[in-house]
Amino acid sequence: MPLQLTRSELQCSGNFINGEWRPANAGNQYGVADPASGTVFASIADSDAQDAAAAVDSAAAAFEAWRGRTARERAQLVKRWHALILANAEDLARLISREQGKPLAEARGEVGYGASYVEWFAEEAVRAYGDMIPEPARGKKMLVVKEPVGVVAAITPWNFPLAMIARKIAPALAAGCTVVAKPAEDTPLTALALVQLAHEAGIPAGVVNIVTASRAQTPVVVGAWLADSRVRKITFTGSTAVGKSLARDSAATLKTLSLELGGNAPFVVFDDADLGAAVDGLMAAKFRNGGQTCVSPNRVYVQRKVYDAFADRLVARVSSLVVGPATDPAAQIGPMINERALDKIVQHVGDAIERGASLLTGGKRLQPEGSAGTTFYAPTVLGNATRDMLLASEETFGPVVALFPFDDEDEVVRLANDTPFGLASYFYSRDIARVWRVADRLESGIVGINEGALAAESAPFGGIKESGYGREGSRYGLEHYMHTKYLCMGGI
Ligand code: NAD
Repeated sequence: MPLQLTRSELQCSGNFINGEWRPANAGNQYGVADPASGTVFASIADSDAQDAAAAVDSAAAAFEAWRGRTARERAQLVKRWHALILANAEDLARLISREQGKPLAEARGEVGYGASYVEWFAEEAVRAYGDMIPEPARGKKMLVVKEPVGVVAAITPWNFPLAMIARKIAPALAAGCTVVAKPAEDTPLTALALVQLAHEAGIPAGVVNIVTASRAQTPVVVGAWLADSRVRKITFTGSTAVGKSLARDSAATLKTLSLELGGNAPFVVFDDADLGAAVDGLMAAKFRNGGQTCVSPNRVYVQRKVYDAFADRLVARVSSLVVGPATDPAAQIGPMINERALDKIVQHVGDAIERGASLLTGGKRLQPEGSAGTTFYAPTVLGNATRDMLLASEETFGPVVALFPFDDEDEVVRLANDTPFGLASYFYSRDIARVWRVADRLESGIVGINEGALAAESAPFGGIKESGYGREGSRYGLEHYMHTKYLCMGGI
């Protein structure tokens, strides 16, 4: 029977530990609000260090049996989980929209996208090959095998409540690891529904455990995992500040880390570009999830000769975007996740205008008809942006495009790389020699060339510099959940 929205809200209200729902040890709960209305619609476990430890007890106890299964057996269970996610896609999409605010069509897309990672890693599980090494002396055999790292702690953000946690849990399970996970405090319900489906798929008790916590309790729960030497890996997506604190605090037990942190993506339009394609690419990359994605273009550099033509086409498209709650089928941009996020957008736009940017469209809060929410923001384009503006150095994480005019290739490569971050970058050009030159010189883990939609389960996703390290998706993604063991056998 398909998962009902009410079932996921009302029944999945505890932590999921050792195959069962358990209330928080201290009996505390916190409220989850619908960002489109501000109304609290669910109450869930607010955990402490004992809940965190119980989850690790369960994951550690389950590890030997789970890693002992054949890769094929693990793959079959993960595939069954994938099938259940697809069978419940509509309910999951409604849950995502409810707790995170994205329009329903986008939420459906997120379910398909997140599920594709689950399927991919089910298939990759059986391809975790090792190596034979030609022996340097007779009488020896030397080989390399891959082994699961052990208990993995996954900490995920609110912007993709299903996809972010799916693309951490699926490779961990495929590799033979067990998991303790903490979803973002604003969007925990989709994760709880997902783990319920993993349980229904037959994934054994203790293999996946989920602990929820309010923002105040989050450092307590994560701190317990950081201090626990049984947790061998942390996989995190979120802000650079928290990522750095995890790197510092996991040093005592030398855990391995995968960190997918903030970005400040440049998007460059050269004067030989197909302008229509560049506008399409920017619309897709920038306005997905209302600009609340880590690969969202933050600085748009347009070569001076095509600047006005590009700006005109872009403004026409952006000013026609429909803003509204996910319940409005016409909505293309939902609410921002919370007041904190909206405050940052308001601050960035105000600062840019004060420093001389021209407001080409948007630039204000909105109150869509029929919605009580206070975190809607008009899709915005700012012209003549400059390096001294906050939005040039910080991630805005909202539906705001800032256009920076530029003159030549060397200048724009320097500007594009002038950031501590290096997650994604994009550029549009039809000059093949320029395409190779610029792709070589851009400092980021992902480069979109004449393309705005970059993420795929089969491709490595992740950054360099202060955007973090480690990759998700693809065969590279599986490697981060395994270590390399060298076996040397003599007397042959
Ligand atoms: P965040 O880093 O605060 O939250 C991400 C996760 O970390 C959540 O699960 C949160 O509960 C947890 N967390 C928060 N404080 C923690 C602590 N002290 N110790 C351990 N875990 C902690 O990010 P946010 O508040 O959701 O967003 C802030 C900024 O982060 C955004 O404006 C954006 O720049 C960036 N961000 C990036 C991504 C991404 O996909 N890379 C996603 C969301 C946010």
